[in-house]
Amino acid sequence: MRLSRYFLPVLKETPREAQIVSHRYMLQAGMIKQASAGIYSWLPLGFKVLRKIEEIVHQEQQRAGHIPMLMPTLQSADLWRESGRYDAYGPEMLRIRDRQDRDMLYGPTNEEMITDIFRSYVTSYKDLPLTLYHIQWKFRDEMRPRFGVMRGREFLMKDGYNFDLTKEDALHAYNRHLVSYLRTYERMGLQAIPMRADSGPIGGDDTHEFLVLAETGESEVFYDGEITDLKFGDRAIDFDDHAACAAVLEEFTSRYARTDETHDEALFNQIPEERRRTARGIEVGQIFYFGTKYSDAMGALVDDGKGGKVPVHMGSHGIGVSRLLGAIIEASHDDKGIIWPEGVTPFHCGIVNLKQGDAEADAACEAIYDSLTALGLEPLYDDRDERAGAKFGTMDMIGLPWRITVGPRGLKNGVVELTSRRTGESEELPPADAVARIAKIYQGIA
Ligand code: ATP
Ligand code: MG
Repeated sequence: MRLSRYFLPVLKETPREAQIVSHRYMLQAGMIKQASAGIYSWLPLGFKVLRKIEEIVHQEQQRAGHIPMLMPTLQSADLWRESGRYDAYGPEMLRIRDRQDRDMLYGPTNEEMITDIFRSYVTSYKDLPLTLYHIQWKFRDEMRPRFGVMRGREFLMKDGYNFDLTKEDALHAYNRHLVSYLRTYERMGLQAIPMRADSGPIGGDDTHEFLVLAETGESEVFYDGEITDLKFGDRAIDFDDHAACAAVLEEFTSRYARTDETHDEALFNQIPEERRRTARGIEVGQIFYFGTKYSDAMGALVDDGKGGKVPVHMGSHGIGVSRLLGAIIEASHDDKGIIWPEGVTPFHCGIVNLKQGDAEADAACEAIYDSLTALGLEPLYDDRDERAGAKFGTMDMIGLPWRITVGPRGLKNGVVELTSRRTGESEELPPADAVARIAKIYQGIA
């Protein structure tokens, strides 16, 4: 993409309404525009990152054997009356009436709808196990929408639902989700710590929240400092292997890690003092096992192969896709702007032309642009007729992890400059070598 032809409305002044850095930078970098309280338009740069995050979520869900689909945002109130949640949900639910006077709602979550789909088609244990998921907009009329996309009213969520014959199988689905979430967040450059949580209005026994540590997080968290040394990394795992998934769950959840909702001071104090940590965290996902709560209420039964009919065991599993943009920026920025991890960056590399209009500099930039593009990478070429300082300022704000700077002086010696956004370190090298370096960095990522 050439910046002169892109739509990147970078703001010069600091937006006053933003209380936390991710919100401020998302506005300044021209990623989002507020439409009304807690509701945002996704401008091209923000939309690009949102899509990248979605793509990672899709890939990791499908790696775990979960099946993508799409349910609507608007739902009929009748399904929610069946489960009893239409009255229970309260003012966070946006209730709508259509022209036929039917009660509708903008879905805050989808347990009812997926259970209805399941009961309409599945009648036999032979069709289990089954896990369906979608990535869809949700609406919750939050009392205090704030912090930009972190606590919106309209927000994008991955929500998945498992259907299993037995509790044991459903707990395997739970473990499988925990494992797949670990890799999902790591690919976004995040460490998200699973913490024992409270099940709240969804109801159920087993639940973990995934929290990213950040000063601006809304939850107070307590954990054993050893936890931050754990890394899932690139391990191969067979998602059908119950014991293997259970072992990973054990590894990542056996040390103390809880939010203030479930915190137990006595248990916490059993950790050696030097390892006790108190911090703040951003909830980026949650997994639940809730058994037969919805299948009982809504009659989602299968024949069990022994002549009987039994309600299926279920769980639901959410990832805050749009909130993740804020969480990633909170975890990765400096005072000049965003620093995108390579896994989610909107463009792989910036190209800055120090002397637009200089025949040699222009040609060198074009050549680098073409080489990167031919390798399947997406560069952002700042080809505007602007001062170098302004070009660097834009690149730093929008946070591309790598920048190639091209100018007549370097070209005389046959070199360009390759700069890391994270460390600020620069290196001079021939253009072809800079391209090769970028290609190598993104091997296995882009
Ligand atoms: P919270 O406690 O932050 O209100 P929740 O526990 O009610 O969230 P879940 O039902 O677990 O939310 O939804 C799954 C994920 O969706 C959450 O982990 C979070 O990342 C994201 N999410 C929930 N509410 C919002 C919101 N208002 N804006 C953006 N993302 C949200
Ligand atoms: Mg939650």
